[in-house]
Amino acid sequence: MESMAKLLLVEDEPKLGKAIRKDLSEHGYALEWAYDGRIAESLIRGSKYDLVLLDINLPHINGLELCRRIRSADADVPIIMLTALGGLEDKMEAFRSGADDYLVKPFHLTELLARVKVFLKRSQVDRNYDDKFQVADLEIDFAHKTVSRAGQPMTLSAREFALLALLARSRGRVVSKQEIAEKVWDMDLGASTNTIEVYINFLRNKIDKPFEQKLIHTKPGFGYFLKPLE
Ligand code: CA
Repeated sequence: MESMAKLLLVEDEPKLGKAIRKDLSEHGYALEWAYDGRIAESLIRGSKYDLVLLDINLPHINGLELCRRIRSADADVPIIMLTALGGLEDKMEAFRSGADDYLVKPFHLTELLARVKVFLKRSQVDRNYDDKFQVADLEIDFAHKTVSRAGQPMTLSAREFALLALLARSRGRVVSKQEIAEKVWDMDLGASTNTIEVYINFLRNKIDKPFEQKLIHTKPGFGYFLKPLE
C-alpha cells in the first residue's frame, strides 16, 4: 500500500526538486512536482494526495499561506514543510499554519524519506480503526478523522488528531511523553519534549479552551490524560 502513495512536492529550486523526485520515485512513490504556489493550489484542488512536501519561499503563493489553504480543504493530509528557516518562531508559524512536520534545509534525503514513511504508515494505521469514541460531549470519528465537541466540528491537523486519538484510545490512562514521542512522532524522546507541550497546548486551545469542562489534563512528572474530572 505504502508504495502506491501519491505525493505532492511544492519546491521552486530545480536542483533540490529533481533530487527529491528521483529519490522518492526510486523508492516507489508517485510524486507530482509543482514549482510554484499557484500550480500547487490548482493540483490540490484537482486531486487527492497522501502527503504534501511544501517549501515556504515560493513564487506567487507563500508556502505558509498555501499550507493554510491546503489544511482548510483537507484536514487530514500530512504536510511536511521544507525550509531554510530553522528558528523556533518559524517552526511555530509553520505548525500554526497546519503543518505536521518541519525539515530544515539542507537535509539528507534519507531523513526526508524516513519522515515520509512515518506519516504514510501512520495514516495507514489510522485507517484500520473504524470506531467512534465519545467522552463527555467530545466525539471522535476515527474513520472520518473528524472531531466535534458539543456538536461543533473542529479542525485538527494530522498531528493533533494523532495525539488526541492516542489520548482517547488510552481511555483515561496517563500517557507519558515518552509514549507520545514514540507513537505520535515515531521517535525517541530527545529535544521533542517542548514540541509535545506545544501540541498539547494546540489541542487544549481547540478542545478545551472554549468549554467549561476540561478534558485534557496534566499529571505533572508523568504525562497527560483525557478524562472528564468529577
Ligand atoms: Ca524556495
